[in-house]
Amino acid sequence: MRAAVLMGIEQFEIKEVPAPDIVHDTDVLIRVGTIGVCGSDVHYYTSGRIGSQIVQFPFIIGHEAAGTVERTGNRVTRVKPGQRIAIDPTVSCGHCDQCKAGRENTCRELRFLGCPRQLEGCLCEHIVLHEKCCFPIQGSMTFEQATLSEPLAIGVYSVERSMLPVNANVAILGVGPIGMSVFHVLRTTNVGSVYVTDKIDDRLTFSKLLKPKWSGNPDRTDVVKEISDIEPLLMDVVYECSGNEEAFGQAVQLLKPGGTFVIVGITEADEVPFPIHELRRKEITIVNIRRQVHCTQKAIDLLARRQVNMDSMATHHFPLEETQKAFDLVANYRDGVMKAIISVD
Ligand SMILES: [Zn+2]
Ligand SMILES: [Zn+2]
Repeated sequence: MRAAVLMGIEQFEIKEVPAPDIVHDTDVLIRVGTIGVCGSDVHYYTSGRIGSQIVQFPFIIGHEAAGTVERTGNRVTRVKPGQRIAIDPTVSCGHCDQCKAGRENTCRELRFLGCPRQLEGCLCEHIVLHEKCCFPIQGSMTFEQATLSEPLAIGVYSVERSMLPVNANVAILGVGPIGMSVFHVLRTTNVGSVYVTDKIDDRLTFSKLLKPKWSGNPDRTDVVKEISDIEPLLMDVVYECSGNEEAFGQAVQLLKPGGTFVIVGITEADEVPFPIHELRRKEITIVNIRRQVHCTQKAIDLLARRQVNMDSMATHHFPLEETQKAFDLVANYRDGVMKAIISVD
């Protein structure tokens, strides 16, 4: 089969590689339709690592995908050949303490699609996954929409975990695809005012679609001052979705006493300094988001019922052969890119 193989830093090659096959009775062989380029994939592309997860080249990355079931193992009941599916890229063991507690996202033996030393990714024609990773999609839903259910599920999970009070005032720091996923989900709740920041003006413009009360660029304005001028009692919840270290300090400053700081973004740095006394005096709750758990179907339902419309997020399209071009575009935030979608056929 054809695959876009990551051969080194910022170096993809389209190669012919052996196709995977069904090994276990619960396996599903999937023909990949579309793949979304995620910020975490871009970390592997530009630096070969996220924290201690280091790519051994050559390696196939990619974890946001939708496709068609080609064949199934003998014990598969969730899907049938020919069925179109969205994919949850998390393969959990099902028997550790975390899985038993319903925390499959922190499974002790977790293997994640396109994650170094876990599972090869989906930037190729075929993948094999456990049936529990396969979520059938209905009639009019496109592969592209199904692919976007992966980042949207992280938005669903982040909002669920933030225990939003009624009419909460919130800030989203960073409105890339994950920040926008959070924003889309917030718009399905009774959230109060939403404030957004980003260092990329195109993204601020893009976020206006969801009508933030205020938006600003921290490189040009004192976002903490401006937001606190409008909302002197400050924020109930801040979602950090940029992965930018400076935003961590801003988040703490923007929160009211008793507020909740939700860390969704992935930083390049291994350690991030915190204004610890402000954090303590305000008694801020910190919620970390590790991908998501049990939110894939919820995200698919939001899209299917048109409660959330993410169509405009897919700003750029590429064939598999142009994977390198897609990653260069996303890595450099060029041309107003939000989500680049790669099609296999
Ligand atoms: Zn992703
Ligand atoms: Zn487990």
